[in-house]
Amino acid sequence: MPELPEVETFKRYLDSTSLHQRITAVEVRDAYVLQNISGRQLAHRLKGRRFENSYRHGKHLFVRAGAEIWLRLHFGMTGSLEYLKHERIAPKTARVIFHFARNNRLAFDDQRKFGEIELIKGVDEFLRSRHLGPDALDVNFSQFAAIIRKHRGAVKAILLNQQLIAGIGNLYADEILFRSRLHPATEATRLSGDDLRRLFRATRYVLERAIALKTDFNRLPKSWLLTHRGKAGKCPRCGRALKSATIGGRTSWFCAHCQRSSFCLNHRSKDRC
Ligand SMILES: [Zn+2]
Repeated sequence: MPELPEVETFKRYLDSTSLHQRITAVEVRDAYVLQNISGRQLAHRLKGRRFENSYRHGKHLFVRAGAEIWLRLHFGMTGSLEYLKHERIAPKTARVIFHFARNNRLAFDDQRKFGEIELIKGVDEFLRSRHLGPDALDVNFSQFAAIIRKHRGAVKAILLNQQLIAGIGNLYADEILFRSRLHPATEATRLSGDDLRRLFRATRYVLERAIALKTDFNRLPKSWLLTHRGKAGKCPRCGRALKSATIGGRTSWFCAHCQRSSFCLNHRSKDRC
């Protein structure tokens, strides 16, 4: 599922391929993806305009196409962008294709169909209406610590809550907690100042490093949990078998040896789990 680093990578890709070109047509192959607008309306509103710039917040990408006209893209489970030049054929799972001159196109590809496309008037208004928290790469340490300290529950559930901090999903939350050496079920209000500092540093490091590597899983460091998580996976730090548990409604992978908890929600005690 595209998380902050993937969406930032899509933003950079769109910026480098698709800005400042006249939109000649919008081809909607599968209208499921459209929110609050028909295919015909979308094409009518965008035809003749240009994508001027883009802005990312959390897992949402906003592309400005004029005064009070922003295209909002959300990539759901499997969404991605592909820029197609000239005769290149669009993938079968391309749901919406923005056409430019000389048959250049930007395709919104989405195999599982959980993506979203709509036109909105303004980004701030949208963020307020969804009650989205600050972007995970836009908070400083004191804001980050205040958010985590103020909310009860498993630290992983708090990292995943888009209304508290926007952009972190299941995979990167596990990676951040592994790097912080915190058990995902750790009660957030019990985190020490040192824990919070490690968590904050790990959040920035993991997200920025993933962006720098264009979220190519083959290039992620072997010391990361992401390249080992799953059944039969071993901890890249200590070699013990990784464990999984459902925390915050999602499957978490972690190393019970390296990620000890001083107070774990599962055990309600100081025992490590
Ligand atoms: Zn370990």
